[in-house]
Amino acid sequence: MKMMMGQSCLDREMASVNVLVKGQHSKNEDGKLVISSTVTLIKSNKNIIVDTGSFLDKETIIKELQKKDLTPESIDIVILTHLHLDHIVNTYLFKNAQVYCKFKKDPYSGQVHYPRKGCLERTEPFGELNLANDMCIISTPGHTEDMVSVVVDTVEGKVVIAGDAFPDKSFLDGKKQPDPLLVNIQEFNESRKKIIEIADFIVPGHGDMFKVEK
Ligand SMILES: [Zn+2]
Repeated sequence: MKMMMGQSCLDREMASVNVLVKGQHSKNEDGKLVISSTVTLIKSNKNIIVDTGSFLDKETIIKELQKKDLTPESIDIVILTHLHLDHIVNTYLFKNAQVYCKFKKDPYSGQVHYPRKGCLERTEPFGELNLANDMCIISTPGHTEDMVSVVVDTVEGKVVIAGDAFPDKSFLDGKKQPDPLLVNIQEFNESRKKIIEIADFIVPGHGDMFKVEK
């Protein structure tokens, strides 16, 4: 029997992943870097946003959520892959969400922020958190030492939402190297290898989701 998108052999729908903003990393006509992160929606038993994008992305995020009958207020959880400005600016939109980020290399735990209450607390180590069905958070250091990625089980396969552990599709060749001044290259390469092994699809830090041919 042909399986429809979003159906599964479980008695509930599996999680789905949608890219709301295809982050960019390009030069404008003045030669200045135009940079914004990819913003991703996971629909599971919770509504989850991974990375919240740059200054220009606010209206696009709201419009894309509307298409799915959602508003920023209906997001339950925000996960920030790391704390670089191009990935976090619109976090304030998600007032009802619990906002998760990591602040130090393993084995340190992460933080969860409660915007409505204006407070934060430490969480369990991310690998042990059970935030929603069909997803988990893994450590993928290198771009920053506290970098995390989100792995989602969908009907189509495993999707890794990688933030800048996988900056864009061109890093799929396994050879392209980021600026060594910005990154721990050895850790970056180990994390990239791990992501390629796990993923059927990758959502990179900048750009649209793509398939990993095995
Ligand atoms: Zn970054």
